[in-house]
Amino acid sequence: MSDKASEAENEEMQTKREKLVDLIKKIAIKKPEKVIAVPEGLRGFGQVTALQSICIGCHKCEEVCKLGAPLIENKFDLPSLFEDNITKDIKSENRRLLIDFIKKIAVKKPEEAISLPSPLRGFGSLCVAIKKCITCGDCEETCPEKVIEIKPIFDLSLVFQE
Ligand code: SF4
Ligand code: SF4
Repeated sequence: MSDKASEAENEEMQTKREKLVDLIKKIAIKKPEKVIAVPEGLRGFGQVTALQSICIGCHKCEEVCKLGAPLIENKFDLPSLFEDNITKDIKSENRRLLIDFIKKIAVKKPEEAISLPSPLRGFGSLCVAIKKCITCGDCEETCPEKVIEIKPIFDLSLVFQE
């Protein structure tokens, strides 16, 4: 989609998205918990999701995004390692062995992500600003680990995180 949309069109779409998010915040009586499906064909909406356990913190998604939406946080999402079948999507044998090892030595499932010592190459967690992302797909195409997937959903609770 980035090939078809000009920079001005992308910026216009981002402005619309920002206005919508602000409007939802204004009219909501309480924090919404719903995840709603985005109607087919509606451009500019949807959500970037990422399999955090496989992110190698390369920052390529940050670099490719023209709208400044992604941020690689200096943390390692330990709870995500304990999701079902997590290792089946991992390309790196080394990463798979590390995750298997962490799961083996864990006494219980961790509840929080941990901060990483800085600089530590090869790890990170993708966080995408819901106000700024227009789901153009550039980061999804660029990610070398195929960590990113754009889903036709809109998690209303995230509106209140920013
Ligand atoms: S889909 Fe990715 S590249 Fe496109 S606006 Fe969202 S974060 Fe940026
Ligand atoms: S999400 Fe993909 S492109 Fe972004 S830092 Fe992680 S591995 Fe790199």
